[in-house]
Order: sequence, then structure tokens, then C-alpha cells
Amino acid sequence: MRIERVLANNPGPYTGAGTNTWILDDGKGSVIIIDPGPVDRTHADAILARLEGRRPDGVLVTHTHTDHAPLANPLARELGVPAFGQGKGPGFEPDALVSDGSVVHVGDLGLKVLHTPGHADDHLCFLVGRVMFTGDHVIGGSSVMVENLGRYLESLRRLQGLEIDRMYPGHGEEIDRPAEVVDWYLAHRMQRHEEVLAAVAAGAATVEEVVETVYAEVDPSLHPLAARSVAAHLTLLAEEGRITFREGRADPIRSS
Ligand SMILES: [Zn+2]
Repeated sequence: MRIERVLANNPGPYTGAGTNTWILDDGKGSVIIIDPGPVDRTHADAILARLEGRRPDGVLVTHTHTDHAPLANPLARELGVPAFGQGKGPGFEPDALVSDGSVVHVGDLGLKVLHTPGHADDHLCFLVGRVMFTGDHVIGGSSVMVENLGRYLESLRRLQGLEIDRMYPGHGEEIDRPAEVVDWYLAHRMQRHEEVLAAVAAGAATVEEVVETVYAEVDPSLHPLAARSVAAHLTLLAEEGRITFREGRADPIRSS
């Protein structure tokens, strides 16, 4: 098995150095492309060049965010192969559906599909042997934006039960100590959860006010992304009965 990266030319505050497109080869010339990225001719050409004539069995996406999926359909069409995904998203429509428990065959390899919602509802990870392609569920070098915190924490805990030696993320470098990184992700999220609760207790009443308190140290260009994670924390804190969060307003629960 051989894994190669083609880095998309979309660096930025939300994407780090850019989106990692992964080419997985079973070692006998069968390949699959994972997360081709945004529509970009130069990147498509770089992927095609890296294939060196190998015809992939398909193009696979971890989730339908626009830095991961929109090149999938045009690239798959150009190669005459199917695009695999869990469902439709902006600029993406799968030719073949996969879901939790599916196995995508690449020559002798079987990629096991795991539904890992939280960063995005339609997020998938792919496990092959003891290697996992993690998309934006776990990335190299930082935490990720979370849309649904309850589901995200469940999806992280699910990884703790698996034997994984190496992760190939959607952004950043490969992860050589997956168990440590997943533990750190969980600890980091739980710490943020308490910080968000403390900010509400101290009077922060809107997502923006919580972001300014909890993410004071973080580059303001990342605050819009932080706002989505904060909204996810406030929603879960409300579900847990620890605050109220209605119509964008968060309030502590005062015992009388
Ligand atoms: Zn994403």
C-alpha cells in the first residue's frame, strides 16, 4: 500500500497550507483519489500527473465542504470513474452512495467507511488496515470547527476504540500518534466547553461576546469559524441543562 499527497493551492486561515488530496495505491496499481478539493484546473492537472497513467477505481470525498468535494464530479467524469460520497452537497453529487459500514474496494484493499458527524453532518472517515483518512474530523496541527458538538464528541470517542497507527488528514501533516491526538482533541473540546460555560456565567450573552472572551488569544480572522464552534458549545450546554440558549441569547441558570 502506498499513499501520496497532492496539496491543493487553496491556503488560508480555514485551510492551513491547503486541502490534502490523497492518492491511495494498493501496491499493484489500483488507486483511489480521496478529497480532490476545490474546482481548480491546476490542481486537477497535478492529480492527473501524479496518477502517471494509473486509472483510479473512483474519487471519494470525506464530506461536502467546498474545500474538499467540488472537484470530485468533474475529475471523476474526466477519468470515466464514479464519484463516491454519502450525499449531495454544494457543487457535489455522488454517482455511488456510501455510508457507515460500506466498504470501498481498491484492488486488493477494502476501505471501511465510518460515519463521523460533528464537523459536518455528512462527514466520513475511511479506515484501511491500521491507517485512517480523517478529512476534517481530525486534522494535523490544530483543532477543527465543530457544527454539532454532541455528535462530534461521540465521533471522536468512536476513534478511541479503533487500532490506528497513522492518520492522513484533510489539512496539515500526517498524524503519527493518533491516540494521543484524539485524547488531546477530546480534552481540548471539554476545556473549551467549560470556558464557554464560564463566559456565560460572567455575563457574555451572545455568540460574539463568548467568542471575544474565550477566543481572545486567537487571530480575529478565525473568529467567524470560532463562532460556529461556540454556537455548538452553547447548544450542547443548553441540552445539558447548564444554560439557556434561545434566539441567539445565552443565559446562566440561576438557582433561586
Ligand atoms: Zn470541512
